[in-house]
Amino acid sequence: MTKAVGCRLNNLSRRRRDKKNSVKKPNKKFVFLDRDGVINHDSPDYIKSWEEFEFLPGSVEAIRHLTKNGFTIIIITNQSAISRKMISAKELDHIHLRMREACRARGGSIRDIFFCPHMPEKKCDCRKPKPGLIFQAETKYNIDIPGTAMIGDSAKDIECARNAGCGQAILVQTGNFSKAMRQLTEKNIHPDFIARDLFDAVLQITGHE
Ligand SMILES: [Mg+2]
Repeated sequence: MTKAVGCRLNNLSRRRRDKKNSVKKPNKKFVFLDRDGVINHDSPDYIKSWEEFEFLPGSVEAIRHLTKNGFTIIIITNQSAISRKMISAKELDHIHLRMREACRARGGSIRDIFFCPHMPEKKCDCRKPKPGLIFQAETKYNIDIPGTAMIGDSAKDIECARNAGCGQAILVQTGNFSKAMRQLTEKNIHPDFIARDLFDAVLQITGHE
C-alpha cells in the first residue's frame, strides 16, 4: 500500500473512518462564523486590542437571533497577527472574552472560537481556505458538517466552506466584498447566498423575518 502523502490525507481518511464507526448522532444545528468583516469591522492593520474591536451594526443582534433559534455558533478565524508578533495569544483571548461577554449580555452565545495563528507561508492545515479549523470543531463537537452553514466576508471563507463540505456558504458584503467576488469568480466558486450583512445572512439560515 502506498504511504499517504502528508498528515492531511491521513487525518482525512481517519476522519472518514471514525465517522463511519461512530454511533453518536449530531443533534444540534451549527453555524460557523468568520470574525473580522463579519462580526466586527476589519482593519488592514489587524485588530490588536479590545479598544480596536468594533462590532458591525446588527451583528450582536444576529448572534442573539441564531442563539434564540437553537443554533450553536462557532467562530473560525485566521489570526496571523499572532505569528507576526503584533498581538499575543493572551491579548487575543482577552478580545474574545470581551466579545463573548458583550454578546451574552444581549442574549447571544458563542460556543467556541477556533483560530489559526500562522502566517500563510507556514502552509499549515488550519489557515483558511484549508478546512482544518472546521475539522477540529467537528471532532470536538461531533458536528454533521453537511448540515452546517459558514458565513464569511472573504473568498477564503467560501473556499473553506466548500473544502470542509459545509451545506451552505454565505458571503456577506461588510468586508472586502469586491475583492472577494473577484477572487471567487476567478476560481469559479460561487457562494450559495450573498447577504448584506450578518443579520441578513442569519435570516437566510433561520428562515425567519
Ligand atoms: Mg473576514
